[in-house]
Amino acid sequence: MQSMVILGATGSIGASTLSVISVNPLAYRVYGLVANTSVDKMLALCVAHRPKVAHMMDEAAAKQLRTVLPAMLNIQVTTGINDLLGLVTAAEVDTVMAAIVGAAGLVPTLEAVKAGKRVLLANKEALVMSGELFIEATKRSGAVLLPVDSEHNAIFQCLPQEVQANLGRCDLTAAGISHILLTGSGGPFLRSELAMLEAMTPAQACKHPNWSMGPKISVDSATMMNKGLEFIEARWLFNTGAEQLKVVIHPQSVIHSMVQYRDGSVIAQMGNPDMRTPIAHCMAYPQRIHSGVEPLDFFKVGQLSFCEPDYNRFPCLALAMEACAQGQEATTVLNAANEIAVEAFLLGQIGFTQIAKVNEACLMTVPKRPMATIDDILALDAQTRIYARETLISIT
Ligand code: NAD
Ligand code: MG
Repeated sequence: MQSMVILGATGSIGASTLSVISVNPLAYRVYGLVANTSVDKMLALCVAHRPKVAHMMDEAAAKQLRTVLPAMLNIQVTTGINDLLGLVTAAEVDTVMAAIVGAAGLVPTLEAVKAGKRVLLANKEALVMSGELFIEATKRSGAVLLPVDSEHNAIFQCLPQEVQANLGRCDLTAAGISHILLTGSGGPFLRSELAMLEAMTPAQACKHPNWSMGPKISVDSATMMNKGLEFIEARWLFNTGAEQLKVVIHPQSVIHSMVQYRDGSVIAQMGNPDMRTPIAHCMAYPQRIHSGVEPLDFFKVGQLSFCEPDYNRFPCLALAMEACAQGQEATTVLNAANEIAVEAFLLGQIGFTQIAKVNEACLMTVPKRPMATIDDILALDAQTRIYARETLISIT
């Protein structure tokens, strides 16, 4: 039986993970649930899944949870970063689902990696920020790293076993691979009039045609910054240069990504757009378990189509590719700027097209310095956030 901690338990990936666990109750046990402030959701999850530990990052939320949690459940409520790091490294824990949204997930996810846990990585921002350090820590500790992000999970499934066993250090060319084809739906605004984008609301941006996800990644999908972050994520996971990575728009989200081989073969992974599939794949790898996802019905799907991304429509995608080429300081800056810009957009403080403007201003202006440690990364992240907030004020 695998004992699991779920970081970001009250979110969309958290819910899908708990759903897969419920389908396989004899194989997985919930040891710890982690969230930020959502007391009501955490209470319901505690009652349903009976973890040993419920961790609320926010201290007031932890206090409140203690008062409402029935004593007979015997669940320990913890708070603060030290308890969180203690939880992800606990000897009783085998597997950590890393599904906190944004930079906040970096430190606990990296700690789980350093402790040699089996780490299921949904929190792409962690890898975008820490890239090389993250991969190095994985190698040093022997942690098993498995990609949850549907595209990276699809790519993983299309790769030869020796490449799968050597994530982050693999040699794609030696394995006969010419390209990785990273697919993306293009989000809700793929065909909207360009002139209309400026006025798009948070509710419209969060209405993804195929996937149901948390608010931040939904907005990132609308700007295609999500594909940009995934481009950077793929660069690190598959140890590849930009010349081997191609973004392909595929509006139906049935193919979740593809690997093109030297001999002309293309291997694709397909399925309904439901995160329980890649989550179940990571949980059971190299075995297969039931995920609760409906089998793909090709007669209902009918047609699959593809087109090239339009960088005019999706400037955030171009910025992310540019940052990827510049290096890790640039990707850390872009990620932090984007978190601030998306938050401001969701709060109605800036318009949709201003997200890219904030990102671009930060990428151009924030001074980049070499980053040797996690503290260097966190300092650059913090500095960028200050600059991004100043930029927000100047454009509103
Ligand atoms: P969400 O907004 O639905 O949930 C976020 C979770 O993170 C919540 O449980 C929240 O309590 C927790 N959280 C936020 N800040 C925290 C903090 N400071 N400390 C502790 N916990 C904190 O987000 P989501 O859609 O589930 O996405 C989670 C991650 O997975 C993101 O990095 C996203 O890019 C990635 N991802 C999501 C999907 C998807 O379909 N939702 C797909 C691929 C990758
Ligand atoms: Mg994805």
